[in-house]
Parts: sequence; structure tokens; C-alpha cells
Amino acid sequence: MHMLGEITQYIALAVLLAGLVYFLTLIAGNIKVQSSANISAQADVAYFRTRIGEIMDRRKIIKAQDEVSWQGFRKFKVDKKEMEGGGICSFYLKPHDDRPLPFFEPGQYLTFKLDIPGQKKSTIRCYSLSDQPLDNYYRVSIKHQLPPRDNPDAPPGLGSSFFHEQIHEQDIIDVKAPSGHFFLDVTKPHPIVLIGGGIGLTPVLSMLKEIIKRDWRSEIWFFYGISNGSEHIMKEHLKELGSMRDNIKLFVCYSRPGKKDVKGDDYDIEGRVSVDLFKELLPSNNYDYYFCGPPGMMNSLFEGLREWDVPEDRIHYEAFGPATVKKKKEADDSGSNDANKTEAGSGFTVKFSKSDKSAEWTSDSGSILDLAEENDVDIEFGCRAGNCGTCITAVIEGDVDYLSEPGERPESGSCLSCVAIPKGDIVIDA
Ligand SMILES: Cc1cc2nc3c(=O)[nH]c(=O)nc-3n(C[C@H](O)[C@H](O)[C@H](O)COP(=O)(O)OP(=O)(O)OC[C@H]3O[C@@H](n4cnc5c(N)ncnc54)[C@H](O)[C@@H]3O)c2cc1C
Repeated sequence: MHMLGEITQYIALAVLLAGLVYFLTLIAGNIKVQSSANISAQADVAYFRTRIGEIMDRRKIIKAQDEVSWQGFRKFKVDKKEMEGGGICSFYLKPHDDRPLPFFEPGQYLTFKLDIPGQKKSTIRCYSLSDQPLDNYYRVSIKHQLPPRDNPDAPPGLGSSFFHEQIHEQDIIDVKAPSGHFFLDVTKPHPIVLIGGGIGLTPVLSMLKEIIKRDWRSEIWFFYGISNGSEHIMKEHLKELGSMRDNIKLFVCYSRPGKKDVKGDDYDIEGRVSVDLFKELLPSNNYDYYFCGPPGMMNSLFEGLREWDVPEDRIHYEAFGPATVKKKKEADDSGSNDANKTEAGSGFTVKFSKSDKSAEWTSDSGSILDLAEENDVDIEFGCRAGNCGTCITAVIEGDVDYLSEPGERPESGSCLSCVAIPKGDIVIDA
């Protein structure tokens, strides 16, 4: 009896111990599940806090930017003038009033009002910001435009000659606040391809520098296309930028290398920057493409990328376009996302009321400004890209459309004639 009681006691103790072990295991498991859930929840909270922090910071920055931005023209001092080679000169500009500068989006440009001796009116020209956004100066890099090869007797470029020959350190110039739609959204790191042809390097260089500053980890491909070493600017600086991060792949392409140009040292690829080259080098077409360069390069890249099934909203570009040389309609269309618009209305009458002239506008006529010039009607202009606002003209009757989206749409009743086309018969105050 006594022994039976002892056995029962042992069994009860064993069951109790087993229960305890089972209970402890459950608790431990529960703690483990809870703690990993807690860690993941904490990580989520930290992530969202950071994102919200970034958004709030960006809002603060935008508010602060609005406060330091300006309307119209502001006086800037040329702090430094630096020859870059290849007929390009960089100008470092500081505000004359010493007040803070707004940041800009990499890819944007400045608009200048130049009072050039011998010119009756001010000359307006736009130049891209070629450095990354910094708070104490702006930099533009300007190519001296020489007469075209087929017309060597023509005068050299008005604005660029003035900058190169007559603007010196400490001079004061009038500058509009940074603007433009061609820029990189720096808040969203993503795989991109940047392409600069000739002086079209300037906006994409600004993008590259900002990407490095922000330490983007996504794939970045950078192509710089020029004829040969004589046009190669900022060579060492570009090399340094290209070697700073493993995710950045930089290629310099010479289309016609000179005798002294050394492959592998001065340049990487013989040939033009082209979509065929991208097909060879890039693992896929799955990138956002940003490019700026001469019209031929822009046309072929745009068409080639579309044929390669790159969606239009992933192709971003800007054309500089010489300001006094008439852009051919085809060149406009090749780069314009709105190319088909011109088909919608052809054969409209444009009446220039002040000059008492009428002209027929067709889809080959280009912009209203082009048509005006063709018919000796005087309209002032600056950038010929719908940005500087110089060519703003009243529309007395009728309505306009735009070949490419202007920097800022003018109030109704006016148009930016350098990029405007008529939607029907129209009367213009010019
Ligand atoms: C948004 C934007 C950003 C830009 N960014 C830059 C930049 O970063 N760097 C840069 O260098 N440029 C840039 N440009 C281009 C710049 O604005 C000017 O268009 C460029 O400097 C030429 O202007 P210009 O006054 O020197 O030449 P223009 O006087 O406009 O002349 C242009 C060309 O026409 C020739 N020409 C003049 N008269 C005649 C004639 N009668 N017959 C035949 N040919 C003639 C000239 O020799 C010259 O080659 C940008 C343009 C835009 C719209």
C-alpha cells in the first residue's frame, strides 16, 4: 500500500514536471514569436518614422526655398571664371545681396538678361546649372558658339561671345531663379541612364554629382559623347566621379578620335552614343533615361529607345537649340512628346494685327514665332524653348496649343509664341 502510494506520487510528480516543461516551452515559443514580431514592428515604425522625417524635412526645405527664391531678375556677381577647354567656360555666380540661395533640382537652368553693347534690346539666354545644388553659389558652363562651318562669315553667337569675351570676375549680371521641367527626382533612387552630348553634358553632370552626394545605391550608367579629345571637358573630374562608386558606370565615347587620343585612357568607346551601344552594355532596357545633346543625337536616342520598347514616360530630355537659328519642324517633333498635336490643326490663318499681315500656318511652319519671322513680323524672343517668357504675345482671337510644355503657361489671352501653334484661325498682337 505504502509502495503503491509512493509510485503514484512519482507518477504525479513526473506528470507535473512534464506539464511544467511543456508550459515553459510554450511560454518560450510565445516570447520568441512575440519578440521577432516586435523587432519587425519596431523596424517598420523606424522605417516609417524615417520616411515621415524625410517628407517633413523636404516640406521644410520647400518652404525655406520659397522664402529665398525670387521673382524676375536678381543681381549676381561673377565670383570666378574658369576655362574648361573645348571652348567652354564656367562661371561661378554668387548673389550680390549676399542673401541665401534656393536649391535647384539637378537639370534645371538659369535665365540671363544681357545688356550687350550695340544691341538695342536686352538679350535673353538660358544656361543649365552644371554643378550639384549647393547653397552658396551657382555654376553655369557656356560654350562659345562660333559661326557655323557652312557659313564662316556669319557672326559668332551673341550671348556666348558676350559671356566669354566681355564678362569678367566681379562683374554683375541679371539672373532669373532656377527653372525648367528637365530634372531628376532626387528623392527616389532608381536605376538610370544619363547621357550628355557635347555641351549637353551640363544638366546631366549636375544630376550625377547630386546622385553621388546622396549616395544612391541603384545602377547608374553615364555616357558622355563628343567628337574627340579637343572637346573633352572636365576630364579628370569626370574620371574621379566615375570611380567613386561601384554602382556608377561611366563611358566616354569619341565619335572621331584624334591621333593623340588614347583609347582606355582618354576615352572608352569609339563611336557615337546610341541605343545599339545600350543594347550591348546594359543588362536590360529597364531604366529611366535622361539626355541632352545636339538634335541628331536627341532624335536617334528618342526614336531608338521607343523602338526598344522603353515607355515614353521613362524618356526625359532637353534640347538647347541655338537661339537665333531656326529650328526645323522635324527637329522639334522628334524630341517632342506632343509631336502629333501638329497634325490636329493644319492650314490655319494667323493674322498679325499690329503689322497688318496674315500668313497661312501649316504643320511645317513651326511655332507662331517661326511663322512671324518668316513673314518679317517682329516678336522679341530669348530661349526659343518656352522658358524665359520674352516672346509672350497677346492672343486677340482664337486659341493656341504648345509644341512642348512651356516652363510656365502664360495667363489665358497670351501665348509663348516660340513654342505655341494655332488651334484654329487666330489673331496675334504682333
Ligand atoms: C534650357 C536651356 C539650357 C541651356 N544650357 C546651356 C548650357 O549649359 N551651356 C551652353 O553653352 N548653352 C546652353 N544653352 C544654349 C544657350 O542658351 C544659347 O542658345 C547658346 O549659348 C547660343 O546662344 P548665342 O547667343 O551665343 O548664339 P546666337 O547668337 O543665338 O547664335 C547661334 C549660332 O548661330 C550663328 N549665327 C548667328 N547669326 C547668324 C547668321 N546670320 N547666319 C548664320 N548663322 C548665324 C552663330 O554663329 C551661332 O553659331 C541652353 C539653352 C536652353 C534653352
